[in-house]
Amino acid sequence: MTPIDRRRGYWDREKETMAPRARERYQARWLASLVRHARERAPGVRRRLEHAGLAARDIRGVADLTRLPVIKKSEMPELQRIDPPFGGFCTLPVEKLRRVFVSPGPILEPMGPEASAWHGEAALFAGGFRPGDVVLNTFAYHLVPAAHELDEALHLIGCTVVPTGVGNTDTQVTTARSVRATGYVGTPSFLMTILKRAAELGVGRLPFEVAQVGAEALPESLRRQLEEEHGILTRQGFGTADIGMVAYECPEKSGMHLVDDAIVQVCDPLSGAPLPDGQVGELVATVNNPTYPMLRFGTGDLTVVTDEPCPCGRTAARMLGWRGRADEVTKVRGMFIHPRQVDEVAARAGGVARCQAVVGREGHQDTLVLRAELRPGAEAPAVRAAVETAIRDVMKLRGSVEIVPAGTIPETAKKIADERTWE
Ligand SMILES: [Zn+2]
Repeated sequence: MTPIDRRRGYWDREKETMAPRARERYQARWLASLVRHARERAPGVRRRLEHAGLAARDIRGVADLTRLPVIKKSEMPELQRIDPPFGGFCTLPVEKLRRVFVSPGPILEPMGPEASAWHGEAALFAGGFRPGDVVLNTFAYHLVPAAHELDEALHLIGCTVVPTGVGNTDTQVTTARSVRATGYVGTPSFLMTILKRAAELGVGRLPFEVAQVGAEALPESLRRQLEEEHGILTRQGFGTADIGMVAYECPEKSGMHLVDDAIVQVCDPLSGAPLPDGQVGELVATVNNPTYPMLRFGTGDLTVVTDEPCPCGRTAARMLGWRGRADEVTKVRGMFIHPRQVDEVAARAGGVARCQAVVGREGHQDTLVLRAELRPGAEAPAVRAAVETAIRDVMKLRGSVEIVPAGTIPETAKKIADERTWE
């Protein structure tokens, strides 16, 4: 038997390798019909359009979408309380739905009759899942949607799903062996727990070859361990319960390709205006889901997108990782900076033991000073130069460096201290 090639091929080559202009046309087409449908069937969508002074025909392409203000995930519980159960955003009556999920918030999400509305198949295929894989799905099958979304996507690919759900490590080990499970879906840490338990039980190597992980961060060290020591091709995606899967890693694992049935905009978290490529902003998504047509849904997550070509041949732009929560950002000279970027600056520069960004005001100009404590043996002038360069590269801003004695920055200090006053 020849081994399966998990790194080549596409789930839907025509879509995944579309030229940028063709993708624009494809998205404009579904967007226009989605907005018409939603305007007619979802009173919450109608209210938003009317409030923005828009008719359905005003939204014909991605550029028009920007005229509709962003709706924040944090507003959803209140909107659903006022207009239960879905805030007026569902196009079907409850009795026509397949499932209703209850996510933390609480926020309810409907699953309509159409298959594939969460767009996970291209992601799982790019991640290496193939027809014939037998897959342990260890996400929770109650309340929240992730397990069901991926269950359906696996089914569409032609995989066999074993809905093992969360926990029961010993049962997971036994089951993986008895059904010869080649695939795993769940959190990366639980996959490691299962592998370790198998070693403890002395049952030999588990048959896993491929894993789609999510719901928590995937440190590169953990990925290396899974891939190199255990031979499990490990990929991740990005999505939320409200919008489904909007981005996924390909074999190159160089960021996450955006799905063709989602329009992702990286926006100013305050104004909602789209930002140029390469800038950090809030991920705002519009998804082609006729039952639950989320239009310009602000996830509260920060990211950055690049449209540089990817060697895998997929032409969709890629989001370059999760960059924190939008409510933690500080705006400096028109650019958003985030606590994680402060850590990134320190890591890139090297020689920094502890640091803090201080935002101040001089005349009518914001100032950015990075206070840094040196590691033993580090040379102040070299660190200063390296930090200044790292600030420019990571934050796209000019900032100065203040080297302070060890112990000056309290352990509990905020990563970004905003010392501006506005009188
Ligand atoms: Zn790629």
